[in-house]
Order: sequence, then structure tokens, then C-alpha cells
Amino acid sequence: MIVPELPVEIRELKERVARFVEQEVYPLEERIVEAGSIDPQDVDRVRRQAREAGFAMLNMPLEHGGIGLSMLGQVAIEEESGKATNGLGFAVVDRGPRELLEITTPEQAERFVAPVVRGEYREAWALTEPGAGSDLSGLQATAVRDGDEWVLNGEKWFVTSEGDPGVYIVAALVDGEQTLFLVEPDAPGLEIKRTPRFLHDPYLDHHPEVVLRDCRVPKSNRIPASGDAGAKEWILAERLFIAARCCGAAERLLDVASSWAKEREAFGSRIADYQGVSFPLADSLTELLAARLLTYHAAHAFDMLENRKIVHGKVSMAKLYASEMAGRVADRALQVMGGRGYLVENPAARFFRELRVDRIWEGTSEIQRVIIAGGLFKRGAAPYLGWE
Ligand SMILES: Cc1cc2nc3c(=O)[nH]c(=O)nc-3n(C[C@H](O)[C@H](O)[C@H](O)COP(=O)(O)OP(=O)(O)OC[C@H]3O[C@@H](n4cnc5c(N)ncnc54)[C@H](O)[C@@H]3O)c2cc1C
Repeated sequence: MIVPELPVEIRELKERVARFVEQEVYPLEERIVEAGSIDPQDVDRVRRQAREAGFAMLNMPLEHGGIGLSMLGQVAIEEESGKATNGLGFAVVDRGPRELLEITTPEQAERFVAPVVRGEYREAWALTEPGAGSDLSGLQATAVRDGDEWVLNGEKWFVTSEGDPGVYIVAALVDGEQTLFLVEPDAPGLEIKRTPRFLHDPYLDHHPEVVLRDCRVPKSNRIPASGDAGAKEWILAERLFIAARCCGAAERLLDVASSWAKEREAFGSRIADYQGVSFPLADSLTELLAARLLTYHAAHAFDMLENRKIVHGKVSMAKLYASEMAGRVADRALQVMGGRGYLVENPAARFFRELRVDRIWEGTSEIQRVIIAGGLFKRGAAPYLGWE
């Protein structure tokens, strides 16, 4: 099985999400361009409407308020959310922290996952530090037991959250072992140091720096699974969603650029008639299809394959290829539209800035290559090309 047919109910869901993004989110993008900032009330409205339309928490198991949508199904709808700029797609396809369910105790899930499912707050992962990004073995944050509490010290960077998160998942060392803790924002000793601005702003999410100074949490807030395993599951799913969003973005870029190329005239012809314009678009469509097939393939492997090492390799290939493809597609689309492509009101200009981070977060392109090459040297090419 290389790429399965999307079941009819997933195709219908995907079409509904696509229509929603076009009707509700594209107009909001225009308001953001005019204002230069995002009005949280607009986002709340879109989020509420998307929830009412049944797009939220679909990834969660039935007993946790979702429908246990397959990864293939999630990727198919995430692709549609990727057509939105300014990170607004996150408000449409609002996923629950399913990975947390697999690593937390039932009590922790009740306290920290159930409120996310009910839409009361969101979670934020705090792994990266000033001295540890790609290489998390360089973590410096520590947690030391003191009676009924853990005392955390350290500094976390790029902690992605929309507004104020209800809980941070913090990686810290316990006797040298990476361990995850659930830290509430009002925990004594937790402080937001700075909320820097990023290339993709205005963006739905912010990425503050968080300092933990003798920050105390109850002993019950330690996640029992190993920190490494817990973080890996989260990162694996997020890589697939990045790949899917990149495919959606590339599709919108191709639509915008090819429409323009058919309309615009120069030197007595439509610019679409010049191969200097049409060939880059042909390359873009070819690369998009390749990225999409790879992403669906990796998502289906995520659902079906027991050998998680092979799944990791396939997911890395999808993330690497789709994010680099989207960067090339955005560059070509902008060029085809000339000066108009450089206007912020044009989605090509916004995607050109916003897609850059997809080659960095959840593991840079180089780290994906490290993973892929490591697998190749250990197991050979065949298991990654086949379906076992
Ligand atoms: C907008 C944004 C949001 C983020 N959100 C989160 C979040 O919510 N939670 C969180 O914990 N983190 C988050 N991150 C952090 C992100 O995961 C890291 O930035 C990323 O993993 C890279 O780490 P680094 O920035 O420290 O770069 P470094 O690790 O310092 O890498 C610098 C350069 O060296 C290269 N490099 C490193 N090792 C190798 C190698 N072995 N071979 C070849 N090249 C190598 C890298 O590819 C890169 O080009 C976010 C980052 C951004 C920009």
C-alpha cells in the first residue's frame, strides 16, 4: 500500500473545511492586512464557528470527546487549514493533545487534557532552551524533588502558544534523565521573560521565552513516561501536520499564480504563454503532487505500521520534502506575479515569509536529513521504500 484512497467521509470533511477556510478565513486575512494585527475577537469567532461545524478535536479518541480520526484523515484536513495565512488555520482545525493522553496518568489527563478538549484553554510545549534546540541532549533545565513538590529551574525559548496557555509541558532533567512536567502558568516562579517578534508576524501564535526560577509544582505533575519518548510522539505528529500544511499552502499559491499568469499580458501575449513563467509553475505542480503523495503515504504509515523507526524515517522525508517544496513554490509564485506578488495583500507575499519556519521548527531540514541518513545506513533503503 503506497497511498490509500481517501474514504468518502474524509473527502466530504475535507471539502467542508476547504469551504470554511475560503468563506470565513480569507476575508479575515484581508482585515489583518489592513490593520497590521490580528483581532483576538475575530479569531474567537472563527474558532467557535469551526467548533460548531465539527472540525475541532477530531483526533481525540471517542472517550475523550473526539472521533479518533486517523492520521490520514487529520493530514487531509490539515492540508486545507494550511491554505490560510497568519497561522489562522490553527483556529479552524483545532486538534487536541492526543499525544499527552498516551503519556499521562488518567488523573493528569482529567486535569490537563479534558479542559483543552472542552475548549477552555490550550497547552504549550517547552522543550527548546537557549543552549539546546536540535540537540536536546544539551538541556540545562533541572527538576529536584522537595517533599511533595518538584522544584524546576531553567529557561525555555520559542514556547508556542496562542494567547496564554493553560498548561506548559516542560522538559527538565531529573538526575540527568529528560523528564516532562505539567506546569500551570500561575505556578510560583514561572515568568514570561519576553515575547519576541518573528518573521511571520502578525501570526496567531506567539513564541515567548519562559523562565523557571525555583518554580514549584506538585509531585503529581510529573509525567510518568520518559521525557524523550513523550516528546518524540508529539514531534512526530507535528512534523506530519507541517508537511500537510505546506501542501495546502502550495496549492493555494499555484491557484493564485496560475490565474494571474493567464490574465496578465506583456509584450503582446499572456505571460502564461512564456515558458519562463509556465515552466516554474509546472515544476511547482509536479513537486506539490510528489510532496502530497509522500505526506499521505507517511500519514498512512503512521496509522498502520508497527515499526515506528520506519514511520519516523518516512515522516522525516515528508516534512523535509514538503517544507522545502513549499518554499520553492512560494518563491516562484511571487516571481510570476511580479511587483503585485510582493504586496502583503497578496497571499504569495505572506506565504513567502510564513513558510520559512517550516524548514526550522519541529526539527530543521538538516535534522530530518540526519534522521533519514541514519536510517538508511542502519537498515538500508528497502524498508523505507516498501510497506512492512
Ligand atoms: C517560530 C518557532 C516556534 C517554535 N515553537 C517551539 C515550541 O513550541 N516548543 C519548543 O520546544 N520549541 C519550539 N521551537 C524551537 C525549534 O524546534 C528549534 O528552533 C529547532 O529545533 C532548531 O533548534 P535551534 O533553533 O536551537 O537551532 P540549532 O540547533 O542551534 O541549529 C542551528 C543550525 O545548525 C544546524 N544543525 C544542528 N545540528 C546539525 C547536524 N547534526 N547536522 C547538520 N546541521 C545541524 C541546524 O539545522 C541549523 O541550521 C520553535 C522555533 C520557532 C522558530
